[in-house]
Amino acid sequence: MGILVQIEHVDGQVADGAHELLAMARSLGGTVEALVCAKDATTVAAIADELDADTVVAVADAVLADYVPAAYLTCLAQAMEDRAPDLVLLSYSTAGIDLAGGVALKSGREMVCYATAIERDGAVLTVKSQVYSGKLTASTTLPLPGIVVVMPGAIKAPERAGGSAPVEELVVDLSVSQSIRHVENLLPDSDGIDLTKAERIVCVGRALGGTDKLPLAEALAVKLGAEIAGSRPVIDAGWLPRARQVGKSGTKVKPKLYLMAGVSGAPEHLEGMQDSDLIIALNSDEQAPIFRKAHYGAVCDMFEVLPALTEKLG
Ligand SMILES: Cc1cc2nc3c(=O)[nH]c(=O)nc-3n(C[C@H](O)[C@H](O)[C@H](O)COP(=O)(O)OP(=O)(O)OC[C@H]3O[C@@H](n4cnc5c(N)ncnc54)[C@H](O)[C@@H]3O)c2cc1C
Repeated sequence: MGILVQIEHVDGQVADGAHELLAMARSLGGTVEALVCAKDATTVAAIADELDADTVVAVADAVLADYVPAAYLTCLAQAMEDRAPDLVLLSYSTAGIDLAGGVALKSGREMVCYATAIERDGAVLTVKSQVYSGKLTASTTLPLPGIVVVMPGAIKAPERAGGSAPVEELVVDLSVSQSIRHVENLLPDSDGIDLTKAERIVCVGRALGGTDKLPLAEALAVKLGAEIAGSRPVIDAGWLPRARQVGKSGTKVKPKLYLMAGVSGAPEHLEGMQDSDLIIALNSDEQAPIFRKAHYGAVCDMFEVLPALTEKLG
């Protein structure tokens, strides 16, 4: 089986998800090819050095310095045509979901999104995927050739020993009309906070309901010496500043303690915190997906337990 993996990187820094895709491809057996699109050959070479692939298929062009949808789509579509892989793997990331839909449409291949596991029985793949924000797991038989978009953290990538795959250049005509162009990278106002450095985090979810109850979480955070953070709805509602958002479109954290109250555990939130050493979840719904990830959990009303915990900590 031939597997083509789309490698995501920012300025040559390979995304964790790309290594996870390669590990998943390896677990399925067959030939693993990594598609690297970058601004120049030096960046391609540096990335290729890190990848556990049999071949690196590379497109080097100044247009690819930043993620430009039409250019990246053209590269992936052409790589699929040239290499004719049985399976294409992409990360469930902003660029990954953008590209996957485009190449599925262009190639007519079937696609499964939100994948957490892939099993192979000969030429038949069974893909497990999360639906309804992780509340249900779907099992899909995917006819090959197919496309799978894999959730971050679905598989642990091994420690990287460095790759030695040969690099094969793919010549792509990138004079396509770029209806979307990259203007600049805007980093969120950091508010002086760097959540990635926090050893302890207390994270509140939509159940907070507003800023009037925020002091309950803040008091506990003070007792724990923790930073306060929020899920996306909390940030979107303006209850906490954007620099305190954890998740796919926020910050990715790995603290020693991640205590979360009123957060359901949607895949996009898990993406930002699932590698925390100790995850403790307070949620009133015993079916909340977070209980499948948390090391400890309490089915409870957070508004009772937060102050009780603060009091216990003296
Ligand atoms: C492209 C994209 C990017 C995204 N990026 C992010 C991201 O970076 N970060 C992020 O968090 N989300 C992100 N999301 C949104 C994500 O899908 C979820 O919608 C979001 O994480 C849900 O936030 P929540 O858990 O706070 O709210 P909900 O899903 O509404 O969960 C609230 C939880 O509180 C519980 N609850 C209710 N009352 C109480 C109570 N009294 N005591 C205890 N528990 C209670 C409920 O049982 C429920 O489980 C993204 C979505 C998309 C599509």
